[in-house]
Amino acid sequence: GFAHLQDGQTIRAIYERADHALYRAKRDARGEVVIFLAEYETELTDIGRYEQALRTADLPREITVVFQPQHDLMTGRTSGFEALARWQSPTLGHVNPGQFIAAAERTGVIERVTGVVVQKSLVAALSWPSDISVSINLSSLDLMSSRSIANIVTLVRESGIDPGRVMFEITETTMMSDFECARKSLETLAAMGCRIGLDDFGSGYSSFAYIHRFPLHRIKTDRCFVTMRNEDESVSDTIFGAIADLCRNLGVECLAEGVETEGELSAVRNSGIRFIQGYLFGRPMPASAIAGHLEDQRKAA
Ligand code: C2E
Ligand code: CA
Ligand code: CA
Repeated sequence: GFAHLQDGQTIRAIYERADHALYRAKRDARGEVVIFLAEYETELTDIGRYEQALRTADLPREITVVFQPQHDLMTGRTSGFEALARWQSPTLGHVNPGQFIAAAERTGVIERVTGVVVQKSLVAALSWPSDISVSINLSSLDLMSSRSIANIVTLVRESGIDPGRVMFEITETTMMSDFECARKSLETLAAMGCRIGLDDFGSGYSSFAYIHRFPLHRIKTDRCFVTMRNEDESVSDTIFGAIADLCRNLGVECLAEGVETEGELSAVRNSGIRFIQGYLFGRPMPASAIAGHLEDQRKAA
């Protein structure tokens, strides 16, 4: 990320703009150079407003959690739900999760956000049938913080849920930043009986060197492989097949994310992937809609 030095600009302003360019590069153009442009100013101002509002937010009230079904092709039923955070700010309205999670990370609020999401997800999951799991996203900063991990352990213990029903999703970038520290945190969660899922697999560096060195129970293929099918079916199908093989060899579950159409579903099914998540099987829904979703499924079976 780069920014041009402009007359009269403070060092801080230039640093912020270069940092924002870097953020855009990571988001939209991985591995490429991005130079800060004048039209990015509004986005930068928005981010400043999110950060400001988050610092003073009443998180347990403003953060809610929605749940997206994860479908098991082997049983033909929902096997679990991924918890996805939503922020409704009284001043800013609904803020896109990608943006507010990044803002929470930068402002140091993320550990508290994680705490709220874990707590609300466990309360919801406790009302579901006992064979239905819940997947909760962790930020890399959670894995770097022994305090955040200790808080998560306490929340799981005190909720009384069977820890085997709880999966924590982490991303590859999380593992790359400080491998040993991340590994230790994941060992702690796994030792309690919780499961670990590697999210957005294939979107980043996908270093196979580290993958067997931490506790891992599931790999989630990045949505880009489904999207890629619109351009090149055979490449996409080859990649799904390869990831499915990798999972089999590692002895971990495989879930394909972002499946929206029947065509995509049959490709994923043919590659031997067992779990699917995507709009085809359900959009993220409030906790209150889950009983109805499971009931509809039972009736249809
Ligand atoms: P993610 O963990 O990869 O979550 C999947 C995202 O893909 C969700 O977006 C989900 O709504 C969307 N999605 C699922 N199926 C489909 C589909 O078939 N088609 C399309 N186009 N999209 C689909 P969402 O809820 O906007 O979340 C975005 C990201 O925000 C998440 O990506 C995750 O990285 C982050 N996030 C959300 N909640 C939390 C949280 O509680 N903690 C942390 N640390 N990050 C979170
Ligand atoms: Ca996830
Ligand atoms: Ca994902």
